[in-house]
Amino acid sequence: MDDLAAKLDARRTQGLYRQRQTLSSPQGVRVRVGDETLLSFCSNDYLGLANDPRVVRAFCAAANEYGVGAGASHLITGHQAAHAALEEELAEFVGAPRALLFSTGYMANLGVVSALAERHGVIFEDKLNHASLIDAARLARAQVRRYPHVDTERLADMLASARGPKLITTDGVFSMDGDVAPLSELRALAQRYDARLLVDDAHGLGVLGNEGRGSCADQGIAIAAPVILMGTLGKAFGVFGAFVAAEPAVIEALIQYARTYIYTTALPPAVAAAVRESLRIVRAEPWRREHLQALIGCFVEGAQALGLRLTNAETPIQPVLLGDAEAAVAASQRLRARGILVPAIRPPTVPLGTSRLRITLSAAHEATDVDRLLDGLAAVLPSGPS
Ligand code: PMP
Repeated sequence: MDDLAAKLDARRTQGLYRQRQTLSSPQGVRVRVGDETLLSFCSNDYLGLANDPRVVRAFCAAANEYGVGAGASHLITGHQAAHAALEEELAEFVGAPRALLFSTGYMANLGVVSALAERHGVIFEDKLNHASLIDAARLARAQVRRYPHVDTERLADMLASARGPKLITTDGVFSMDGDVAPLSELRALAQRYDARLLVDDAHGLGVLGNEGRGSCADQGIAIAAPVILMGTLGKAFGVFGAFVAAEPAVIEALIQYARTYIYTTALPPAVAAAVRESLRIVRAEPWRREHLQALIGCFVEGAQALGLRLTNAETPIQPVLLGDAEAAVAASQRLRARGILVPAIRPPTVPLGTSRLRITLSAAHEATDVDRLLDGLAAVLPSGPS
């Protein structure tokens, strides 16, 4: 117990202690925390669908029809008509032969990587991949090699010298930096070295590409061997869950071997029904993506005028790099005092010395919200870039 207390104390003194805040309102760009209403740039609800009345109605109607719990895993009796219909619609949406629902993106990554990687094989990971891909490789117990961020030349060298089955894993849009992976080059490398390529498009799906089909569609990459897509349903889709889309043999292998698919309760069918409605809206309302792109443009232009250090992201994830963990926490707290919620992201989520404010924009924001954010940043970061 003393060890634990000392560990927690060390985390506090390093400015790395994490705490939750409790919302008493739905997710949205204005949220209630305690007795305050705050302008939020924190959620991954990029299209503003988490509290869309049509999605809520679909959820309620399905809960009335199917109940609230799936009651079993997919392979026992938990797989219901709403799941099957959603899988077909998702496959059609991303242009893949088949799709398979998972309960979360974290579990999908664990399931795919551990089912497909061989003990004697090698998994290649971009250094800035999401924690779930990193943990997935650990669980797979294959050899893991991490390549410098988006450095395809270095990856090519690593692939050339590797023996055994190979799996390359990458975020489509990097979750903490907002930049996109070079998918054409990665696919070409996968083809050349007989590797599979797993693209985690948690942050691209719904946001990028025609109808929001994601990073792969945006870069002209078909979901066909050697590419496997993992998409999440709790971000732009505003609901919950995840799916993997791929050629039929991969999907069948996941049903047989992915332990995070087999040994867990299926998603509530009402969640699947809500996602079906959300998917319909994602496709039918391109104005959400257009408005979001306009907001991103306004933010980047304004932040550059203030001399802030951004990444080269053109997505709704817009980090302001501050370096020091305490500086990031202080900036976040000062914004909070002005009624603006922006999270400070610190190690170990990001590499040491790259602490940042992680701003996420949503189609539910107005241009005036972005102006207020920029005014806030100008006030709390008066000396410009660190
Ligand atoms: N991949 C990436 C890139 C993510 O950002 C996240 C969520 N933060 C996940 C996977 C996990 O998805 P889920 O929240 O559905 O578990």
